[in-house]
This record gives sequence, structure tokens and C-alpha cells, in this order.
Amino acid sequence: MLETPANFSASTIFSPSVGTALTMLCFRDNELLVKAGGDAIYSTTSEEPQSDEIIVGYDDRSAYVTRRLVATFEAPPGARFANLRSLFGILPDDQVAIAGRALQLLEWDRTHQFCGVCATPTLREAHERARRCPKCSLSAYPRISPAMMCLVTRGSEILLARNVNFPPGRFSALAGFLEAGESVEDAIHREVREEVGIQVNDLRYVASQSWPFPHSLMIAFTAEYAGGTLTPNGHEIAEAGWFNKENLPQLPPKVSVARALIEATLARL
Ligand SMILES: [Zn+2]
Repeated sequence: MLETPANFSASTIFSPSVGTALTMLCFRDNELLVKAGGDAIYSTTSEEPQSDEIIVGYDDRSAYVTRRLVATFEAPPGARFANLRSLFGILPDDQVAIAGRALQLLEWDRTHQFCGVCATPTLREAHERARRCPKCSLSAYPRISPAMMCLVTRGSEILLARNVNFPPGRFSALAGFLEAGESVEDAIHREVREEVGIQVNDLRYVASQSWPFPHSLMIAFTAEYAGGTLTPNGHEIAEAGWFNKENLPQLPPKVSVARALIEATLARL
């Protein structure tokens, strides 16, 4: 679990209570610099961070700072650049989480350089994770976009669907972004109805997962089938059906909350 400092000025993270170890997460575009095997972050320096770097947080082993390298930067011997998504299941989970936060912070910082109201250049705040406009005081915080995921059950069966963007043969739970003003429960009822035309009840929270591409939070539930005829809408869902342990299609990768949701649900049915 990553702690956040009380002060986001770069020098403060080296206070004695945090310790002096520093891990520098270096990104080139959206690719993280890792050791050649991909199983560890490749930290390029032990120097103190500069003002254009962002404090990610700290744990009991290290402080973490991130920066974006120029596009022409070549990986040093023993290291390579890798898309973070490709490192799920290779890089340890705690390092994936740290790198995911780092990537989201870099993207927030890059896309909030100017005030959205008056276009004045913004400045980083020291005491909260924000960029503030010095002219009109508008603050911009890192954006997180919640998305619901729902695995519908009917007796010993689960509802799996193939999104039009999935590779052929791949099925998963239903999912969709929340609309402004909705609760997660509202979004589940709406998305399930819109995508496959059925009603559900007995919603139960299972787990959540940060998905930093670019800033989602997947919130996973199960729900019971409550009525309606299964009718994939065609433009989001290409096909959908009821499956059980004996006839499962190709499922999402093991690192996804979707896979965990499906396996945990099948285990109790
Ligand atoms: Zn402004």
C-alpha cells in the first residue's frame, strides 16, 4: 500500500521518517523503463528529483518519483521500455500499482498545464495533489473515471458477453462507464438493460481495480437475473449467452478483475 506525503514538494519526500531510498519511475510516452526480464522497475538515478518530476508516494522500502523521458531516450544496457499493460502478471502487483499511479499522475500533469477557464498556465500545489490557476483559482485534480462491471447469474449459470472490440472467441462480464449523476447501482441496471435487454436485482459488491489506461476504476459486482429476454444490442455487444463451469468460452486474462470476478463467482455457484 502506497502512502502519500503531506507535502508534494519534491525535496520533502526525503525526510528521515520516509527514508532515503528513491525509486525513479521513468516513462517514455506510455512505456515504463523496466529491467530486461520485465519483472522489476529499472530506476535510473539516486539523485534528488527535479521540479518537473512528480512524487508518486512512499512505502516502507522506498520513496517513488516519476518523470517522462524524451522520446529519443534509449534504454540503458539491461533495461527496456515496456507498455505497462504488457507487464501485468510479470511485474509484481505492488509495483504495477505504483507504476499505474505514476502513469496517471504524469498524464494528469501533462493535460492540465493551462487553466480550463481562463487559459493561464497552472502551478502545482504543495499541500494537495492539484494544479491551481494563479489568476482565477480553478483547481484541477487527477481524474478518475469509475466504471461498473457486472457478472449476472441465473442459478448455476453466468452471463458472459463478447464486446464488438474483443478478439474473436473472448467473452467477459458486462461493463460500462458511469454517467454523471449516477450511482454505481444505477449504472449497473442501465448498462445491463442497454447492452443485453434484461433486468437484474440483488446487486453485490465483489472487488475493484485501478485501470490506468488512462484513468479508470473498475468496480465489480454480481447480480441475479430478474427477467427479460437476452438481446445483445449489436453495436456494443456482439453476442451474449449463459455459461456454466462445463462450457466456458475464452475468458479475459488472469490479471484482470473481470477474470477474478468470474472465477470467484463460479466457485460459489
Ligand atoms: Zn484560470
